[in-house]
Amino acid sequence: MSPSTTIGLLGGGQLGMMLCESASPLNVPIAVLDAENAPAKQINSNKHHVTGSFKDPAKIRELAANCDVLTVEVEHIDTHVLEEIATHGVQVSAADGSTTTKKVAVHPSWKTLRLIQNKYEQKDYLGKQGIPIAEQLALDSGASMLASMKEASAKFGFPWMLKSRKDSYDGRGNLKISSEADLEHAVSEFGSLSCYAEKWVPFEIELSVIVIRTEDDEGNTKRLIPYPAVETIHEDNICSRVFMPPRNVASDVSEQAQKVACSVVEKLWGRGVFAVELFFTKEGKVVVNEIAPRPHNSGHHLIEAVPYMSQYKAQLTAILDGPLPEELQPHVSSSIMINILGGANADSHDRLVEKAKSMYANNKAVYLHLYGKESKPSRKIGHITLTGLGTIAELEEFAQPLIKIAEEIRQ
Ligand code: ATP
Ligand code: MG
Ligand code: MG
Repeated sequence: MSPSTTIGLLGGGQLGMMLCESASPLNVPIAVLDAENAPAKQINSNKHHVTGSFKDPAKIRELAANCDVLTVEVEHIDTHVLEEIATHGVQVSAADGSTTTKKVAVHPSWKTLRLIQNKYEQKDYLGKQGIPIAEQLALDSGASMLASMKEASAKFGFPWMLKSRKDSYDGRGNLKISSEADLEHAVSEFGSLSCYAEKWVPFEIELSVIVIRTEDDEGNTKRLIPYPAVETIHEDNICSRVFMPPRNVASDVSEQAQKVACSVVEKLWGRGVFAVELFFTKEGKVVVNEIAPRPHNSGHHLIEAVPYMSQYKAQLTAILDGPLPEELQPHVSSSIMINILGGANADSHDRLVEKAKSMYANNKAVYLHLYGKESKPSRKIGHITLTGLGTIAELEEFAQPLIKIAEEIRQ
């Protein structure tokens, strides 16, 4: 595709904003479908933007009519309209009032988005392909939910994880079931949702690997290029910090995780970047938790750590079928990403921002990213990346004042 290809983006939050930041120096126009003041629109003026919800099929068709290829920053969308646009096309009106139909490619494929939207189906599919996943069990909803949860308790023992099949993010849609006593509360909270049970994974650490996937016009995988694995820390189900390389594990764990992540992404469809969230167990096994078919919080640090090919630039390059590097070698030996989450007050995070601005040191750097979002408790409103030329332990020590303030904001 030519450099003037217009990309249509469903969703204009911080991921979309950083995609636009990397598209700007490449002269790639991005038209965003989201509310008027969405972060991605605040930094990207474009006559093709559409105001509305990325859940509205009519608005998605309007965006597609303005674009050459569609992509997403969120997977919770209507994949039927994306299938229709990719396979049958969308109506485009010309200035003289005539209409034509044009097909618009969707990357990643609507097939991938549909599969991933349903976490149970996602992992059922991966498990059948021989990918290591936690055991899972479909649950009934409504009147027989309690009985099917009792079966899950007998099968898995306590604790186990109750998960909504759809629409979950930041742990909204997960409930840890620690004993029989939790079951009734679970029915009242989750009874109206379609749910499944997942065996508890007593992991040592959590890892994430972002993989770039390209394919030919027939949909066959062309290339799978993994970034180095990172360690992710989740607190109250929300990612709070990311470490590259992972701390306190052997260096070959990253390679082991990259292999599993590539075998997962090979089984999907479409071009772009895919994040594979993984558990690393005490027995040294890598188990797949879930996939995000888009740029991901665990890859924010790549803007500075792999500056020639951040995950955002990779998303654009893969979608446009441009040239990609053989391997993704960071320019630094360590990096840490700290999420800035909204606190109790609208200005609770100001202390963290000011501290980040004040930190300078030899061989270490601090980068602040604010998303232009209103602060709400636990909302992701920015992040800080630190990079270093020494060990991850040294960088972690340097980052301590920021980690401490971020923890205090969360209280
Ligand atoms: P995201 O914001 O990443 O999309 P999500 O709402 O889809 O999150 P999950 O990734 O399913 O939620 O789970 C959130 C966190 O809960 C995981 O990162 C992990 O810390 C914990 N968790 C999830 N499933 C299990 C499990 N089976 N065993 C132990 N911990 C788990
Ligand atoms: Mg998820
Ligand atoms: Mg997750």
